[in-house]
Amino acid sequence: GFNCGIVGLPNVGKSTLFNALTQTAAAQAANYPFCTIEPNVGRVAVPDPRLDELARIGKSIKKVPTSLEFVDIAGLVRGASRGEGLGNQFLANIREVDAIVHVLRCFEDGDITHVEGNVDPVRDAETVETELMLADLDSLEKRLVPAQKKAKNGDKESAAFVALAEPIIAALAAGKPARTAVPKGEEIAAARLQLMTTKPVLYVCNVEEGSAATGNAHSAAVEAMAKAQGAKAVIVSAAIEAEISQMAEGDRIEFLDSLGLKDSGLDRIIRAGYDLLGLITYFTVGPKESRAWTINRGTKAPQAAAVIHNDFERGFIACETIAYDDFVALGGEQGAKEAGKMRVEGKEYVVKDGDVLLFRFNV
Ligand code: GDP
Repeated sequence: GFNCGIVGLPNVGKSTLFNALTQTAAAQAANYPFCTIEPNVGRVAVPDPRLDELARIGKSIKKVPTSLEFVDIAGLVRGASRGEGLGNQFLANIREVDAIVHVLRCFEDGDITHVEGNVDPVRDAETVETELMLADLDSLEKRLVPAQKKAKNGDKESAAFVALAEPIIAALAAGKPARTAVPKGEEIAAARLQLMTTKPVLYVCNVEEGSAATGNAHSAAVEAMAKAQGAKAVIVSAAIEAEISQMAEGDRIEFLDSLGLKDSGLDRIIRAGYDLLGLITYFTVGPKESRAWTINRGTKAPQAAAVIHNDFERGFIACETIAYDDFVALGGEQGAKEAGKMRVEGKEYVVKDGDVLLFRFNV
């Protein structure tokens, strides 16, 4: 599965958000097989109104959304890269996630201590990023000298490492994240270096309840920073999310409406996390169940089939494909077929977001 690590300084609202995420998932447990996997790892359903629509048209008994994992990564403090706080544990956990959800305190509350003394989310973001950059620098520098020696002796893999690592080390030493020094096309090789500042980041501005719909001056500063970095930011109120997570579905919508909110902050975090990871969804629709499946953007049909079952890839023959809009507009599979909107695609087909697929395969 794909996962997002929730990071941030202490007392910014990470645990409150993580608990809200997993409690919402738990509240839906009757319908959805989602759960807290470990105390700090939760799997949540990816909200997608298209699945409801497909299940309705396809008269499916069950609907199964796709999911995303969130990991609550505690222990980041100034000095973590030197082993302060839970330093090493923290760094080990964060190396394993695919993307980073960085929670920033944007709420004023005199009763809740801020580790740096006052609320300044842009400074906090820099503090966290600095720790991550220092840890990346340390990790690359440790590997550089041995690799240089091996490269001199003709080892190609080491030479490739050195070529990739040297400009990244220079960037990190100049206070820039590793992602700024990864050449186009080298993203996969760079990901293998297991650095933290190559991972995509989503900033989550945790504002006070009254600012959930509008944001505040602190969240505006974060949005400006995110924009300058080409990153995304979402505004949430962890306090509201904690309240909502205890509510029944119907009450939730009414409550959000009364606050001037269209959807919950958690939904926006989940969807933004999904986009951040470059993921898309395809669907299978049948009388038993309608189901959403997650793939990387750019995945071809046989590999998309493997998400359902490995045998589907090995025995892949073709896939019947209906675009989501056609499926809905033409009232389902039969209508789409009659209108000539069902295509039979082969091995080289790149699956698109929203495709309704039926795989044909040899067993
Ligand atoms: P963590 O250390 O980042 O995991 O932070 P927590 O989620 O444990 O929150 C730290 C404290 O801040 C707790 O007392 C929370 O109740 C409180 N808190 C979290 N979010 C908000 C918020 O949006 N508004 C206010 N006023 N307090 C919050």
